[in-house]
Amino acid sequence: MPTLLLVLLSAGPLAQAPAEPPTWWIWAGLAVLLAVVIALIFLLKGKAPEKPAKAPPPAEVAPPREAPPPSPPEAIPPPEAAPPEEELTAEELEARKKAEYQARKEARRLERERRRLEREEAERARLAELEEQRRREEEERRRQEEERRRRIEAEAGKTLMEGLGKTREGGFMARLAGLFGRGRAEIGPEVVAELEEILFTADIGVRTAMRLVERAQERVREARIADGAALREAIRADIEEILEKAQAKDPRRTLPGIGLPFEEKRPWVIMVVGVNGAGKTTTIGKLAAKFRLDGKRVLLGAADTFRAAATEQLEVWAERAEVPVVTGPEGSDPGAVAFDAVSRGVREEFDVVIVDTAGRLHTKSPLMEELKKVRRVMGKAREGAPDEILLVLDATMGQNAIQQARQFHEALGVTGIALTKLDGTAKGGVVIGIADEFQIPVRLVGVGESLADLRPFDPREYVTALFGREES
Ligand code: GDP
Ligand code: MG
Repeated sequence: MPTLLLVLLSAGPLAQAPAEPPTWWIWAGLAVLLAVVIALIFLLKGKAPEKPAKAPPPAEVAPPREAPPPSPPEAIPPPEAAPPEEELTAEELEARKKAEYQARKEARRLERERRRLEREEAERARLAELEEQRRREEEERRRQEEERRRRIEAEAGKTLMEGLGKTREGGFMARLAGLFGRGRAEIGPEVVAELEEILFTADIGVRTAMRLVERAQERVREARIADGAALREAIRADIEEILEKAQAKDPRRTLPGIGLPFEEKRPWVIMVVGVNGAGKTTTIGKLAAKFRLDGKRVLLGAADTFRAAATEQLEVWAERAEVPVVTGPEGSDPGAVAFDAVSRGVREEFDVVIVDTAGRLHTKSPLMEELKKVRRVMGKAREGAPDEILLVLDATMGQNAIQQARQFHEALGVTGIALTKLDGTAKGGVVIGIADEFQIPVRLVGVGESLADLRPFDPREYVTALFGREES
């Protein structure tokens, strides 16, 4: 190219040498030169971009890179075809470091997130497992509950009719039956005298016997009694009336199937009293099971702390009925145990608290004083407690049971009576005497050792059992 320029430049003057070269020629030469220069510039410029075209194939030609594996995230993909550091400017180097730092940071964040999700998943699995376990336990509990219910129901227990068998067939009722069953059409003074003798020697108590005899005499005098059967029916009605009257003295509603008054007091507090051997602990155990079957939450208090065996016995019953029991060491203050039981009943919102007490003391303090203290202390744990003072009497004690009832009632104000062991005695008439004398409702009767043998007392059922069904 420079050669061409030279030729052009030199050619001009050579050709015009002889003559004075015209100025247009100079101008034309200059114009050609300019055009050549411009053409050269363009030529050079146009060639420049061609250079990289000859470079190795561009990025898109390269095989597609695989996406980086999700883990381990530490494997940061190296920057693509990164030029060596020494070829970079300070800013580029800075930018690259920044990018690498960001990438590491992001990788750590992803790792943390992954671990968090793993933890959450593990926690969910643990909770589901727990829930499943709870469900299985609940199912098992229900199954056992159902099983127990069936067992108790199958264990039908004795009827009152069976329980009063000895009284009906061997006690004063047998003699009455003999008196009325002699087919007498006439009721004369000798019949009344014999009735008097039978009733006074029965276990119904002198007062009650006297009352029944007086009413019979009255009827005979007024000639309202035609024969033995009529007299028998009259006495039967009188006895039922005595029992009904005593029941009516306490109008509180009783729980069906249990036979004791009950109100939602959280807790309803029952204090059980009676002499040793009367059947307190046994009765409490049976009551606990019955309340539980009725869906109540029951707590027991072992305030008979004078014998270790008494507490142990209650614990056995508590275990059987699957209810908790508050105990104290042997010889400890019974009031403290009673207080603890009622307090816990309040705190943990039990439906029923039943407190067992001693029947005889070996300390200086007389039994009744000690029991009064126990009763008082319960009232401190829950205003107005106890709601029921249940006196347990052993029917085989006969007249003695009436004496006991008097003592306990005077000291504590008994609100209900449980008469146990009716099955083992011919002295079942004692119920009538107790009801008549103290006007305290008989709530429960025990006719045997099984759970179902503790029965709610029903005057009508009692009288029917006493006099026998066939004649009722
Ligand atoms: P506590 O000293 O007043 O607590 O009397 P217990 O509860 O220990 O009972 C004394 C005994 O009487 C135990 O052997 C009981 O099984 C028994 N007993 C309680 N109630 C009845 C019942 O209704 N019928 C019969 N046959 N025995 C009973
Ligand atoms: Mg006991």
